[in-house]
Amino acid sequence: MQKIRKGDMVRVIAGNDRGKEGEVLQVLPKERRIIVKGVRMITRHLRPSAKHREGGIVQQEGPIDLSNVLLICPECDRPTRVGFVITETGEKLRQCKQCKKTFD
Ligand SMILES: [Zn+2]
Repeated sequence: MQKIRKGDMVRVIAGNDRGKEGEVLQVLPKERRIIVKGVRMITRHLRPSAKHREGGIVQQEGPIDLSNVLLICPECDRPTRVGFVITETGEKLRQCKQCKKTFD
């Protein structure tokens, strides 16, 4: 189980995009990196193809290191480190280190 998952809101705490917040679009567990909406925008030059006859330039999010972000707690709305708790029923939940509330 991952501390940060697709659809989470995170805050960037290091690098050029420090302070930005965005939704996690993709998690790359093997690389321990994530892609966050609107963060680390990189410019790609497209070659002309059947789909894009003119080619062109697109802006796209690049992956950032998981250690450079904090989860924004859905309960208290603060950036936080995440822990895990196991409930009586054996369910594993994430826990906000700030407000101690648990969430899926
Ligand atoms: Zn919280």
